[in-house]
Amino acid sequence: MARFKPYDYGQAKLLPVRFEEQILPGTFEYTLSRVIDERIDLSIFEARYKNDEGGAPAYDPAILLKIILFAYSKGITSSREIARLCRENVVFMALSADSQPHFTTIASFIAKLDGEIVWGEVIGVGRQHQHADVRFADRRDVELALDLAAEAHLAEIDDRIVERSAAIHLFEDERLYLTNTGGDLRQRFRYTLPWARVTANQGPETQSRSLEHAQQGGFERIAEAGFRGCGARLADEALQLLLAPDCPSGTMDLLLMPDQMMLQIHESIGHPLELDRILGDERNYAGTSFVTAEMFGRYRYGSELLNVTFDPSRAEAFASYGWDDDGTKAEKVWLIRDGLLVAPLGARLSQARAGLSGTANARASNWNRPPIDRMANLNIEPGSSSLEAMIASIARGVLMRANVSWSIDDARNKFQFGCEWGERIENGRRVGVVKNPNYRGVSATFWRSLRMVGDASSFEVHGTLNCGKGEPNQAVHCGHAAPACAFSGVEVFGGG
Ligand SMILES: [Zn+2]
Repeated sequence: MARFKPYDYGQAKLLPVRFEEQILPGTFEYTLSRVIDERIDLSIFEARYKNDEGGAPAYDPAILLKIILFAYSKGITSSREIARLCRENVVFMALSADSQPHFTTIASFIAKLDGEIVWGEVIGVGRQHQHADVRFADRRDVELALDLAAEAHLAEIDDRIVERSAAIHLFEDERLYLTNTGGDLRQRFRYTLPWARVTANQGPETQSRSLEHAQQGGFERIAEAGFRGCGARLADEALQLLLAPDCPSGTMDLLLMPDQMMLQIHESIGHPLELDRILGDERNYAGTSFVTAEMFGRYRYGSELLNVTFDPSRAEAFASYGWDDDGTKAEKVWLIRDGLLVAPLGARLSQARAGLSGTANARASNWNRPPIDRMANLNIEPGSSSLEAMIASIARGVLMRANVSWSIDDARNKFQFGCEWGERIENGRRVGVVKNPNYRGVSATFWRSLRMVGDASSFEVHGTLNCGKGEPNQAVHCGHAAPACAFSGVEVFGGG
C-alpha cells in the first residue's frame, strides 16, 4: 500500500509578515504606492475632513487611494470586495498597512472623488514603468469604472434586489489583408458595449432585467445607449416583474421590440440564409437550413412588408466594415424584398459553388481561421407604422422585449423564444406587465404573419458578440437593426 507524508490541519504555525516587504520593486503596486506617497499632492483632500479639533481620526486618503486604484487596476470596483481584500489579500493588507477600512468608508471616499483627482499622473507613471497588467488605460477608463460602480449602487433600491452587475466592454481590432496579387487593405475598428443586469428575488420567484448595446464607436455610445440611470430603471422593472402575473397563453398578436427582433432575425433569417449551410458545409456542427438554392428568386419568405438587407454601411452597426476577409468591397444588398427571397448570405466562393449572387460576408474570427460565410449586419428595413399605431391595432396580444432564452432546430425552422419583459395589450392599449413571456413558431410561416413594421422612430441598432460557427469554431460579431414589428396569430405562452 502506498505511504504518504502525514499531515495535521489542527497544528498552529505563526508566520511573521512585514508588509513593506510584500510590495516589491518592479511591481505595479510598488509604483502606485511610491507615486501616491511621493509624487502626488494630496492636500486637496484636507478640506474634506473637519476633525482637526474633535471627532475620530479618519483613514489617510493616501491609504484609501492606494487600495482603490490598485483594485481598479484589477477590474475590481465593489467597495465590499475591496474591504474584503484588505482583510484577506496580503498585497491589499500591505498597501493599507493592515488598517482594514470598512466598506462604507471606501464607498463614501469613492463617492466624493471628482474630476480633480490625480488619475492621470498615477497612470502616466505606471505607464513609464510598463506595467502591462494594468487594466485601465487612461483617466477616462477610471471614470468609467466609477460610473459602473454608481449604476450598480443605484440599483440597490430594495432588499429584494439580489444581484447587480454593470460592465463596459471596450476593444479595438485592426485587420491587415495582403495578397500576392497586390491586395493591401488595413481596417481598424473600435467597439463599445455598455451592459447591465439587475436581478430581483422573492421566495421562489426570480426576475432579471438587462441592458445591452453592442455598437461600433467610442464613449458617445454609452450615453446613447441610455446607460446612465439604467441601474435604478432596471431594478424597478425587475421588481415589477416579481409582482406581475404570468404571460397569458393562446394564439394572439405579438409585438416584438428591436432588442428581441435582433434574435428573431439572427436565428430565423440569418442562419437559414447562410449559403455554406445551404450547400451543406455546416451540417455536422452549426446545422443546416430549411432554405434550398432553388428557392432564391421565387420563395415567399414573409409578408410583403418584410424587407431584409445585408447592410455593412451603417457606421455604428456592430459588424460594419469596408471589405470582407476575402477582400470583397462590402455593399448593401437586399436579401428579402417585399417578402420575396432574393439573395443568400454567401461570399465569393459560395457564390461560385451555388451559381448565385450574394454578399461580401466572408469573415474570419482571427488570422488563423479561414473566412467563411457569416451574417455581419442583417437588418429589417423600417416600415411606415408608428409604435402607437401598432399598439392601437392590437385587440389581444403581448409586447415583448429583451431575449432571455432561445431554442431552434438544426434547419433553423421551428423555434421557441422567451423574453425578459412582457406587456399585455387589450383593445389597443397596454394594460399591464406580464412575466415569463414566450412564443413559438415556424420560420417559414412566422414571417408571413408580419402585419405591421415600425417606422424610423422605433428603429434601433443592436448587435451580438458571439455568433458561433465553423470547425474549428469561430465566434464573430453580428449587427441587427430593426424597428418594432407586429405579427398576428402567434402561439404565445407564459411560464419560466
Ligand atoms: Zn449565430
